[in-house]
Amino acid sequence: MVKCPHCGKELTENEMYCWNCENDVSDIKNEREKPGSEDS
Ligand SMILES: [Zn+2]
Repeated sequence: MVKCPHCGKELTENEMYCWNCENDVSDIKNEREKPGSEDS
C-alpha cells in the first residue's frame, strides 16, 4: 500500500493515478523501485 503524495489517500501500488485527487502517482512507485535509494 502506498499513499498519494498529493492528498494522502491510500492507493494500491498498481494505480497510475490517484482516484481521489486525480493526480499522477506513478512517481511514488518508481521511487520505491529505484535502486540506490537506500543510501547508507
Ligand atoms: Zn490523491
